Amino acid sequence: MIVGEDGRSSTEKDTIERDDFWATTSNKQLNFVQHIKTLLATHGRAAVVLPDNVLFEGGAGETIRRKLLHECDLHTLLRLPTGLFYAQGVKANVLFFDKKPASESPWTKQLWIYDLRTNKHFTLKTNPLRREDLDEFVGLYNVGNRQKRKPTWSAENPEGRWRVYSYDELVARDKASLDIFWLKDESLADSDNLPPPDVKEAAPNRRNRGVHEPLPEKVDVLISGTGPAGLCLAAQLAQFPGIETMIVEKMPANIIKGKADGINTRTMEMFQAFGFADKVKRETYWVNQTNFWMPDPKNPDLIRRVGRVQDVADDSSEMPHILINQARLHELFLEVMKNSPSRLEPDYGWEVVGLTIDPSTNDHPVTVTLKDATGVNWWATRTVRANYVVGCDGAHSAVRKSIGGDRPPMGAGHVGAHHPGRA
Ligand SMILES: Cc1cc2nc3c(=O)[nH]c(=O)nc-3n(C[C@H](O)[C@H](O)[C@H](O)COP(=O)(O)OP(=O)(O)OC[C@H]3O[C@@H](n4cnc5c(N)ncnc54)[C@H](O)[C@@H]3O)c2cc1C
Repeated sequence: MIVGEDGRSSTEKDTIERDDFWATTSNKQLNFVQHIKTLLATHGRAAVVLPDNVLFEGGAGETIRRKLLHECDLHTLLRLPTGLFYAQGVKANVLFFDKKPASESPWTKQLWIYDLRTNKHFTLKTNPLRREDLDEFVGLYNVGNRQKRKPTWSAENPEGRWRVYSYDELVARDKASLDIFWLKDESLADSDNLPPPDVKEAAPNRRNRGVHEPLPEKVDVLISGTGPAGLCLAAQLAQFPGIETMIVEKMPANIIKGKADGINTRTMEMFQAFGFADKVKRETYWVNQTNFWMPDPKNPDLIRRVGRVQDVADDSSEMPHILINQARLHELFLEVMKNSPSRLEPDYGWEVVGLTIDPSTNDHPVTVTLKDATGVNWWATRTVRANYVVGCDGAHSAVRKSIGGDRPPMGAGHVGAHHPGRA
């Protein structure tokens, strides 16, 4: 938008219309190619760095490529490695072409392509492109005698990076696309072996969880209790391996049966953020309507339906209100933790019996005493120092007691605990 002195605005036209251009387009790179073509003297030579879209874009792109192949001798294409030219991640190439006098037959006879991209991994800082990385290409280019070029690719040597295509092959391609690769991309070939997408790459600093490994001496956050509140917090913190999190539970393992089963729509939305709402939706019973039954006044031995109400108000959430076994819900949180970069797992069988806070330091000021609640060393204690301790240990929270908190009156909810279904 250009605003003139009189305050009127006009829009700058991006589309370039020039008689000496092959096609009218607003694509800057395509116009750049056309502009260079017009600047070249007959038999003049050009080598132009261009992004991949020039090689495959339809419409004006196709027209320009067909003209370029016909009116110029487009003899060489160097496919550059990713991320080094233009902006990060933009894929670029060098197109080598010579301008030729007008002719009925196409000037391009063969296009030689060198693939310096597939399975090459350069970076700007740690592994920059060096002159010797171009040695093979420069040799094969054969400046002195292009007619004597020899491909390194063949059916017998499918790994060869230097391959030739005839004019007929190129113009027969869909949209005369020059976006050509033949080497097998190892990263794609390996895709069958990739872990499932929910499994994040493990952080190198994660805790060693061998069976004989002792408890850590210090952690950033210690969570007491693996109810829904503790697991939800642990699943979230587990995504940040820079924060060392520990979650302890006095019971020996995850619960088998729970108490809570009703999950409201807002909690489902939270599950969506953790990535398992769809799984929950597939596995569970949806409470869409509620029926009310009363003894039948005409025949009190029987009951009859007296009402039916819609459960979730229209447009209040895209999620349903569902019923799920609480133990299953715990499993889903545990799975998120296990797949996280920290590979976090609860330390079962450890009960928080008390904690002290050292106000004179900021370095892990809370010392938590844990009791072996189920193991062979039953009643033995260990201490773990923490920067933060979160009491998710239910209505009779030992953490709350340790910091002098009272049990809240019935109906007031738990201090420091989320209510999973009715939050
Ligand atoms: C019968 C019943 C039915 C319910 N139905 C529903 C429902 O349908 N929907 C709903 O949303 N809610 C329901 N609730 C409420 C729901 O169960 C609670 O709100 C929820 O479990 C609270 O979660 P929490 O993580 O805070 O604590 P809890 O679930 O109580 O978990 C606390 C955990 O801490 C552990 N722990 C305790 N002390 C220590 C310690 N000192 N050291 C280490 N670990 C410790 C415990 O073993 C436990 O695993 C129901 C509750 C009851 C009793």
